[in-house]
Amino acid sequence: MSDEKHTGAAAARQILEMNAFDARARTSNVNPLLERRLANAGAASVLFYREPIEIVSARGSWLTAADGQRYLDFYNNVQSVGHAHPRVVAAVSDQIARLNINTRYLNRVVDDYLEALKAKFPPALSNVVLTCSGSEANDLAVRIAEAASGGAGIIVTENAYHGNTAIISAISPSAMKRRDLANHVVAVPAPAAAEPGGSISDAFAASMTQAIEELERRGHTLAAFVCDSIFSSDGIYAGPPGFLQRAIAQVHAAGGLYIADEVQPGFARTGDAFWGFARHGVTPDIVTMGKPMGNGFPMAGLATRPDLLERFCEDTGYFNTFGGNPVAAAAGQAVLDVIETEQLQENARKQGAHIRDRIRDLAAQDERIVAVRGAGLFIGIELCRADLASNVINGLKTRGVLIGAAGRMGNTLKVRPPLTSTADEADLFADRVSETLRASA
Ligand code: PMP
Repeated sequence: MSDEKHTGAAAARQILEMNAFDARARTSNVNPLLERRLANAGAASVLFYREPIEIVSARGSWLTAADGQRYLDFYNNVQSVGHAHPRVVAAVSDQIARLNINTRYLNRVVDDYLEALKAKFPPALSNVVLTCSGSEANDLAVRIAEAASGGAGIIVTENAYHGNTAIISAISPSAMKRRDLANHVVAVPAPAAAEPGGSISDAFAASMTQAIEELERRGHTLAAFVCDSIFSSDGIYAGPPGFLQRAIAQVHAAGGLYIADEVQPGFARTGDAFWGFARHGVTPDIVTMGKPMGNGFPMAGLATRPDLLERFCEDTGYFNTFGGNPVAAAAGQAVLDVIETEQLQENARKQGAHIRDRIRDLAAQDERIVAVRGAGLFIGIELCRADLASNVINGLKTRGVLIGAAGRMGNTLKVRPPLTSTADEADLFADRVSETLRASA
């Protein structure tokens, strides 16, 4: 457990390195736009694929590249109700033409949205704070937990990614290239394996006990367990539903808060429930959310209990200039409406099960597929080696399908189709995976 990633695991991969373009390995096929990007964005430039793609437009599940090639976007966890969904486009265009101001003014569009969003949470989480990024939401969540507990101890999973602020980078082992985890942070293994005869729930609870004891040994009071409810960067561990319960009970018994990071699994993607935590039958103290919330309009936020927010605001208070403005609220409301009217949670459940069935059929004939995991349209396909995963991702790209990588070693294919995707698209994906695996050594 804990900081072993930085000592023992030479093969562990940092999240930004997965499926990333390596500028040092570029060929003599000079792409002028690529050179411009590298010159403009410098060392912080992060591009996908061995040969980055120039995208010019998108609609539904499909992206169109500058050379006319169309790509099935099964990596997409932001434009979750489909690229350029007409209802979101209309809501944003209409609102930005009418009014866009900060939340220091009253505005009905904003409160209508806050109420619609709150209706999706357990009733105790009756306050919502809107931000512009998932990182900001997690940053605020951790500060709320620090104020509530009087401590600074944080538990995360060992390949977690929660964002890019100073506080949150320090609790994101997967974001670190060279540093060790700070003294107040302890990482537990992803809920991947159980002892023979044991259960994932037991194994995860045992890791939690050790982590709480380790923080105590280091003299830290537990502030929070921050947990991505689908363990996306850890490699996608969805089941069995309910395995989080015992671990969360321990966090609460130790005086810590449970922060559910729903940036990846939230907004109906898992098919079983609107939120990832709900699949486990647990109630968080704080829920953070982002990515699909505005279908690409930059918005994020958290929901929490009023007592926790009051405690935090006694010392600090919170205001976010762009967070929760009426255009964001209009985008967010359109997303909620589309999920409901197009029954996208049900579609996620159905298409996700279909994709997993198809890939399990492939696995029965190809032992290089080690495991097929996930819930709804959040799917992990674990392959036997990271270099094979990289070959498959780039091979699928050549065949017009986009996915990504996850997991400690980067050997799990990360598949997140739009919630609107169809059975035909699911079959096309499975056919292309089959072809690509046959062509890959
Ligand atoms: N939490 C999780 C689980 C994430 O995957 C991410 C982004 N990849 C974040 C938080 C941070 O969100 P943002 O990039 O919007 O700051």
